[in-house]
Amino acid sequence: MTDNTNNKAEDTKSLNFIEHIIEEDIREGKHEGRIHTRFPPEPNGYLHIGHAKAFCLDFGLAEQYGGKCNLRFDDTNPAREDVEYVDAIKEDIQWLGFEWEDREYYASDYFGELYHYAEKLIRKEKAYVCHLSAKEISDNRGTPTEPGKDSPYRNRSVEENLELFAKMKAGDFQDDTCTLRAKVDMTSPNMHMRDPILYRIRHIAHHRTGNEWCIYPMYDWAHGQSDSIEGITHSLCTLEFEVHRPLYEWFIAELGIFPSRQIEFARLNLSYTIMSKRKLLQLVENGQVSGWDDPRMPTLSGLRRRGYTSDSIKNFVNTIGIAKRNNVIDVALLEFAVREDLNKKAPRVMAVLDPIKLIIDNYPDDLVEELETINNPEDESMGVRTMPFCKEIYIERNDFMEDPPKKFFRLAPGREVRLKSAYFVTAQSFEKDENGNITVVHCTYDPDTKSGSATVTRKVKGTLHWVSAKHALDAEVRQYDRLFMDSDPDGHKDKDFMEFLNPDSLTIIKGCKMEPSLSSARYPDHFQFQRLGYFNCDKDSTETNPVFNRTVPLRDTWKQKK
Ligand code: ATP
Ligand code: MG
Repeated sequence: MTDNTNNKAEDTKSLNFIEHIIEEDIREGKHEGRIHTRFPPEPNGYLHIGHAKAFCLDFGLAEQYGGKCNLRFDDTNPAREDVEYVDAIKEDIQWLGFEWEDREYYASDYFGELYHYAEKLIRKEKAYVCHLSAKEISDNRGTPTEPGKDSPYRNRSVEENLELFAKMKAGDFQDDTCTLRAKVDMTSPNMHMRDPILYRIRHIAHHRTGNEWCIYPMYDWAHGQSDSIEGITHSLCTLEFEVHRPLYEWFIAELGIFPSRQIEFARLNLSYTIMSKRKLLQLVENGQVSGWDDPRMPTLSGLRRRGYTSDSIKNFVNTIGIAKRNNVIDVALLEFAVREDLNKKAPRVMAVLDPIKLIIDNYPDDLVEELETINNPEDESMGVRTMPFCKEIYIERNDFMEDPPKKFFRLAPGREVRLKSAYFVTAQSFEKDENGNITVVHCTYDPDTKSGSATVTRKVKGTLHWVSAKHALDAEVRQYDRLFMDSDPDGHKDKDFMEFLNPDSLTIIKGCKMEPSLSSARYPDHFQFQRLGYFNCDKDSTETNPVFNRTVPLRDTWKQKK
């Protein structure tokens, strides 16, 4: 036994079922107490938040038990894979703070070894070359209640199989003319055991092996054997692979290779979104979003661009935990996680999204005061800054009402409010344009109410954010709503998920007025725009056109809207 157990989670009662298995294995000295996991993405799309759950678990358990975690690209389907995805996947994993050191592997690195394993199976009379078409194979497979039929090619000699398999590899056959199949059991109640296909012929170039191969291994064949080659002790995957486990174990037993153990856990499903790379790709290709990193996407690159922090994603993943049964997590929980994290980290700033001018009639015409304001009341170490204040400022249009109800605690004729970190002001009059829209509000201020040095103790109920008109930075704000209007867009038998796209998921607001300190904001700087929500500087932002994304509103406004 090693001293790995010293690293185990402190409270044994809170261990999840995988930690239980691992600790038991360590206690029993299995694999000399070594813990080695892997994260095996297929490079056919960007990673989404569901993948984050998987790799936080793979890398997290390795860290927790002093083990290792490999990054292995499952690149066995050259038709759908691309290096763009490889790079994006690596960036996303690193963003969450995980490292695979020099252990970046590719299933395609093992094509040679897998080929030899296949020959070994053939020699054991456990695999054969089959000339049935895909349709015939499927017709012969039977159903869960009816056994399948043996292929007429099932009992070929070892020699013949070896020769045909070599010809398959040499490129002597056209695509889809034959396959190599494992000889397991066509009557097995588990359909995956009914002589599964190991190799198919595809005359396409691979992004790493080029034209070296024209036979490509199927997932079940490549995946488990790659685990063994790498000495993976605990191969964690999602529940849909549970039915593949008998085959995974059959290959290990027949080949006599390293006994990796497959353990399944529940996928992360999130409400109001979809988690299939194929469907996310459809959104990208159809132009419904601007790309894989569109801030409305559930991808890690989308969430990052939207202003999610890596800590908020890790906290979310830890909060939802690991289960053995599939369920749907409310997306509000993810939003809660980012709010909680940004509440601690994001400096407070003032930005007015729908500006209306406020003129303080009794304030000196040319005076500019630099008023001090605190950066984050949750964290005094974040210090203070100053904001310029002068006669003309902007406030939000909806913070003034000409004829307000009694409970309106913001500005209205004759009513007094506090301007955050500045003075009390009382509205006196307003101007309208020819359409009846208010253009300017006139008010007076009370010099004795200056923030921090007030001599007046009277109370006001409302506090408004504001920005000096002369010093304001003009900026664009992008507000996002849920990408889908249905909580389970992918869960309708008779309807395509596309039908539930929210036509109003993006609102672009131009001409927003922001405090001048925001001119130094750079992607992906995070802020709390006071009273409005958490925002970040977008990667499209430039000096002449600053752009900010709304990450989340301050509260769960979705609930109120319904
Ligand atoms: P998709 O259906 O989105 O294409 P996938 O499973 O085909 O997903 P892979 O690249 O094969 O994508 O996934 C890599 C790993 O991430 C696998 O081990 C898989 O089980 C896991 N994974 C994928 N989706 C989820 C999810 N929603 N929740 C948890 N783990 C997931
Ligand atoms: Mg997969």
